[in-house]
Amino acid sequence: MEEVKALIDGHQRFYKQYFEKQQDLYSNLFKEGQSPKFLVISCCDSRVHPAQIMDTKPGDIFVIRNVANLVPINEADGKSHGTSAAIEFAVKHLKVKHIIVFGHSQCGGIRTLMEGDHLSNEYSFVDPWMGIVKNARASALKKYQDKAFDEQCAYCEKASIEISLTNLITFPWIKEKCDSGNLTIHGWYFDIETGDLLGKQGDQFIPVKELIIE
Ligand SMILES: [Zn+2]
Repeated sequence: MEEVKALIDGHQRFYKQYFEKQQDLYSNLFKEGQSPKFLVISCCDSRVHPAQIMDTKPGDIFVIRNVANLVPINEADGKSHGTSAAIEFAVKHLKVKHIIVFGHSQCGGIRTLMEGDHLSNEYSFVDPWMGIVKNARASALKKYQDKAFDEQCAYCEKASIEISLTNLITFPWIKEKCDSGNLTIHGWYFDIETGDLLGKQGDQFIPVKELIIE
């Protein structure tokens, strides 16, 4: 159980180094509640923590984490849709000003998608979930047919961000806010190997510090 002890020790370090030093911040967040300006849709990957990567404070970003940072299309069918529920809460209740789809390199979910058909029931939840961006796979196989598998995956990671951005607009209350200038959506990509954070501008991903921010 040494591995669990590491988490308990980690909490003690957090308490001393962060909580005690930011008591006013936590006290305010407790009294006033949260009012983050950003919704970040990130992957579950243990190497990709948006708050750490963008050095944000508690209360700054509302984060949804799912396999491969996907946004499904609007399916108001009365069934349970975890990601859509969290997006709805962030946009309607918290009134975030920005949504960032936060992709990353070496994504296991995208790799699983790119591998194609699996043994029946091996991934009975992952496979249908990754079907959200099946067009990104098709596009990677077409455009990168002569490239190595890793390169196809990297292309698919970025193409799937594009699909998620498009899917966001299928929610009418998001489209409305985007049209009226009250909400902006962004596609960003974290490179685990280099530590670089890229942002989508037009058809390209460029370093976020070079993005034109209006
Ligand atoms: Zn991932």
